[in-house]
Amino acid sequence: MRRVRFSPAGWFVLLLVLGMACGKPPRPRIDGREVAPPEEELPPLDEEGVPYVDEEIPVDESWVEVDESVLEKVEGDDLIRVGLVSGVRTLTLRVLDTVEVLDLSGEVQARGAGPGRLRIAVARRGVTIDGPGMDAVGVAGAGVLLRVEGEGAHFEAKDNEYPGEMLILRGRDGRLTLVNIVDLESYLRGVVPWEIGRPGPESLEAVKAQAIAARSYTVAHLGRRKQLGFDLWDGVGDQVYRGLSGTNELTDRAVRQTRGKVMRYEGRVVQAYYCSTCGGHTASIQDVWPRPAVPYLQGVRDAPRDESAWCRLSPHFRWTVAWSAHQLGDIIRRWLPAEVDEVLSSKDIGVLEGLEVVERDTSGRVHRLRVVTDRGQWEVQGDRIRWLLRPATGRFPILRSTLFTLQEYRDDEGHLIGVRLQGGGFGHGVGMCQSGALAMAQAGRDARQILEHYYRGVRIESLKGGREQWERELP
Ligand SMILES: [Zn+2]
Repeated sequence: MRRVRFSPAGWFVLLLVLGMACGKPPRPRIDGREVAPPEEELPPLDEEGVPYVDEEIPVDESWVEVDESVLEKVEGDDLIRVGLVSGVRTLTLRVLDTVEVLDLSGEVQARGAGPGRLRIAVARRGVTIDGPGMDAVGVAGAGVLLRVEGEGAHFEAKDNEYPGEMLILRGRDGRLTLVNIVDLESYLRGVVPWEIGRPGPESLEAVKAQAIAARSYTVAHLGRRKQLGFDLWDGVGDQVYRGLSGTNELTDRAVRQTRGKVMRYEGRVVQAYYCSTCGGHTASIQDVWPRPAVPYLQGVRDAPRDESAWCRLSPHFRWTVAWSAHQLGDIIRRWLPAEVDEVLSSKDIGVLEGLEVVERDTSGRVHRLRVVTDRGQWEVQGDRIRWLLRPATGRFPILRSTLFTLQEYRDDEGHLIGVRLQGGGFGHGVGMCQSGALAMAQAGRDARQILEHYYRGVRIESLKGGREQWERELP
């Protein structure tokens, strides 16, 4: 593999620029205006730390193939199916009390008495299940449903506690999928604390806004992962859900006080995307992903009139990432093929010579980025830029946002020696900015005002009927 040779002077310049905390780097711009940086180092929003996480690396969804007809048998009026585990050959759950094992026609096949572990394994024509107070039972068919009895009965799996029932699906590929079947409001109790954190009572209205956004997102995405046998993943690919673990008095109160409330736009429940920190301006959905424009998911300036951004106290409001040309070249050779949908070897990509911002969207985010090497040029668009420009070190697996300015460093001969980004925000930027929502609540805004700021033109209304009715309202 060919590498650019760096002169000693070049290295000196690189180390100097990477090490400099001050200097005058360009600032991100929004609508041609500089976004004001925070004047001083500001503390994080809350001491416990908001679990700022964003999209996770997608799992290989070809793992499972589920007979969708089995799902109809476990459909309840307000039940949500959440995928917890997929693509495994054995599963272990813990139960504290009595457990019933039903086949998918609803017949009880076995009963066990906890506490103890249930072990479910793939068998030739179904699954076997072994547990406390029951001998290994074979159940033919596409899976089993587990039901626990008693006050406060729950399951333990993945180091979490789960309410509701557990559905274990045996895919045609001989792999198991674990699905938690839970009513909508209990599901939200397990989502809200992981999505907006556990702030103090002064932030209740932001937590209520989060509960309404998460409820709307859930209803608008029912059946999203239907081919996998459930509605939504329990991770950041959809909404983080950990059952009863992490529930908290304030987040429970926010769910309770907004019970059944969703946002609608022209009569349909909205796809309420949200993200950690917008950096000063939210993004429009069509600029981030190759999807049609949606009126209520258009970028808004996230600041009160003539003031600095609502989310300026977020630890992610401004950040810097830097690479040596060598590091970034390796990263680009590794990730470029996936982000341009091409089969390319390292040799095809060659040696990185530079990056160019071709176009910014109206929020100031980089919309088209050109990668220039000694072998060719490629363009990466929208949110995919985050999956390409991955930091070389640190705790963020992908770039925090596409709201950044780019600075290249070159040696005397013009060879690229390093790249530095000055960026703002964390997440895709579409919909509600969670850090901004927390700040708005602390400034006295209520949940309705917060939601109407981020999702223009929506109405907050009550859900009617059950799942069948909700599915008719899908956007
Ligand atoms: Zn914001």
